[in-house]
Amino acid sequence: MTLEQLSCDNKNEKNFDCDLAIVGGGIVGATLACALKDSGFKILLIEAQPLEKAAAKRQAYALSVLSGHIFEGIGVWKDIFPHIGKYSHVRLSDASFPSIVKFQTADLGTDFLGYVAEHHVVLKALQNFIADCSNISWLCPAQVESVEYQKSVATLSVTVEGKSRQIRTKLVIGADGARSRIRSLAEIKTRGWKYWQSCVAFTIKHEAPQNDIAFERFWPTGPMGVLPLPENRCQIVWTAPHEQAKALQALDEKEFLSKLEAYMGGIAGTIRNGKRSLLISRATHAVRSLY
Ligand SMILES: Cc1cc2nc3c(=O)[nH]c(=O)nc-3n(C[C@H](O)[C@H](O)[C@H](O)COP(=O)(O)OP(=O)(O)OC[C@H]3O[C@@H](n4cnc5c(N)ncnc54)[C@H](O)[C@@H]3O)c2cc1C
Repeated sequence: MTLEQLSCDNKNEKNFDCDLAIVGGGIVGATLACALKDSGFKILLIEAQPLEKAAAKRQAYALSVLSGHIFEGIGVWKDIFPHIGKYSHVRLSDASFPSIVKFQTADLGTDFLGYVAEHHVVLKALQNFIADCSNISWLCPAQVESVEYQKSVATLSVTVEGKSRQIRTKLVIGADGARSRIRSLAEIKTRGWKYWQSCVAFTIKHEAPQNDIAFERFWPTGPMGVLPLPENRCQIVWTAPHEQAKALQALDEKEFLSKLEAYMGGIAGTIRNGKRSLLISRATHAVRSLY
């Protein structure tokens, strides 16, 4: 169903609990809901986890300048911008090869080349914004179990506080993450493969005076990305073959930091490490649309 058809169908409102049911109140679902604040659609955001817990995920995203413009257009950027890392330089290098490829703001004519935002900063700002949108409501914590599609209505079976509830909607949006149940239920197939590497992701606190540079260093074992966060912190994603990544994850703090300093080439001064997460990298593409 197109958005135009959705508008035309508004006369049948009483048969529906909402116009749009967005399954998943993560960054994607919450951003879409906020972007539709003036659409006139009645939107239900269904999220399995309590809002505080959904926002507490420990990870950071690289945001492009365009993503900043999108958040600005929505009206939520003013609550995100003061609390995120901003970089005005990008430095790319190849292992210990001495040459560096540099990008700077003059190349784009912008103040920054990009941003680095922690999950909790973005999702909290979106959740606060949604609280003031009269057309958007939360059903949370609530888990969508199944969806039945008929010609002009979809019925979601949702578990809320241990009880099953039916939600009738005109359109279902699957924003329920990489292993989307909504995608599987809609029989949208995926094609994908595991990479030969895993990522060790973590945050460090450092003493380098400058904190507006994003580094990416390409080692034969995989790339290492270093992205600036506020308060002299950096988000690091260190890619390495699975066994090597597991070994890095298992190292004690002292050994890990000394290896890290060697790989970073001393760019961050003295560093202190945060908790490490080990992530298996995998590519996934949808191979068939609904149409
Ligand atoms: C260290 C790290 C760095 C990353 N950096 C980047 C980056 O720089 N750029 C980037 O684009 N991506 C990055 N990613 C990937 C990033 O996690 C995803 O792009 C992003 O989280 C996707 O958001 P989402 O809202 O689609 O999914 P999710 O964050 O997974 O949110 C899905 C939500 O749906 C809810 N849900 C799931 N199933 C149901 C159900 N049946 N019923 C109700 N609710 C449900 C979940 O509780 C969850 O809150 C990174 C990931 C990691 C781990």
